Amino acid sequence: MHPAERILLGPGPSPVPQRVLRALGAPTLGHLDPQYLAIMDQVCDMLRQVFRTGNPLTFPVSGTGMAGMECIAVNLIEPGDEVIVCINGVFGMRMKDVMERCGATVHALEATWGDVFAPAQIAAALAAHPRTKLVGIVHAETSTGAHQPLEGLAEIVRAHEALLVVDAVTSLGGHDVRVDDWGIDAIYSGTQKCLSCPPGLAPVSFGPRALARLDARKSKVQSWYLDVSMLRKYYTGGGGGGRVYHHTAPINMTYALHEALTIVLEEGLEARHARHAAMHQRLRTGLEKLGLGYVPKRSLHSLNCIQVPSGADDAAVRRRLLEDYGIEIGAGLGPMAGKAWRIGLMGHGATVRNVDLVLAALREILGR
Ligand SMILES: *Cc1c(COP(=O)(O)O)cnc(C)c1O
Repeated sequence: MHPAERILLGPGPSPVPQRVLRALGAPTLGHLDPQYLAIMDQVCDMLRQVFRTGNPLTFPVSGTGMAGMECIAVNLIEPGDEVIVCINGVFGMRMKDVMERCGATVHALEATWGDVFAPAQIAAALAAHPRTKLVGIVHAETSTGAHQPLEGLAEIVRAHEALLVVDAVTSLGGHDVRVDDWGIDAIYSGTQKCLSCPPGLAPVSFGPRALARLDARKSKVQSWYLDVSMLRKYYTGGGGGGRVYHHTAPINMTYALHEALTIVLEEGLEARHARHAAMHQRLRTGLEKLGLGYVPKRSLHSLNCIQVPSGADDAAVRRRLLEDYGIEIGAGLGPMAGKAWRIGLMGHGATVRNVDLVLAALREILGR
């Protein structure tokens, strides 16, 4: 087994710094060892800083981003609940599927792929479905590169006593995410996108309104593994009885996330977001010189979804990038298969060197 050192400029995973890889190799502790619990507490504390929240129940769920999505859905939804899911790409579709599996009646609010939702559209959907208990929306739709604004949504959602649930898998660590200022009730992310950690943990945060919903449940959470009423006893020591074994936390992944979050906070959130913005702009300028256009009107900095130019062979170009340059970029998903390329500039990968390299490689391969 000799994996090559790829330059990961796709939709995730992103390149992992050596510091984070070294942290994975530190000695494995027991998951109830006081030393380990101190490390876990620090991880939760750093996650609060990165999510910009004071929520005590902020922790890394064992599993990838999808486990974070399932955790929030299964804990906050009871069978028969009505929910609204905003769908403008693959991850909104997945949220609908996951919530339906929790027994929800999902009212899909749809937008053209690549577009984002205006607050008035969400207000109209809530007016049409006044019994809605939760609104789910994707902050960074990785399938289209669209950047959904979240400011001002909480007021609308709260006026209907619904919860605001946000997918921040591709934004956390690359774009500003303000859980408290934006009134987000529950949010999930992943480690392998803008946090530049290997895949395996899903940071989540539950606010006070979400916890009240959890405490008022009439039915047991269907998933034993993701039941927050049990998990919180381990992660926060809350709920009485101190730290209680639930499942063995992924110890060495926790070390990796600790190191990745340390790097994020050393750089500083503002500086990190500004770096992602600058690298996006540098890439965009270069792509436009090559005659390549963006799919979304309001693009993410962390994920650049561009149209495959007519005459270019989508798969052949990606294969040459990988074989000749060691560069991975993403293909189009769903209706965009064969029509789009997705260039991720996430975390450790968002550098001048990588931007200029992928531009030079594309210029060469496309013969421009
Ligand atoms: C990657 C991604 C997910 C899923 O995360 P996994 O780590 O692949 O399970 C969910 N939502 C969005 C927006 C993503 O980009």
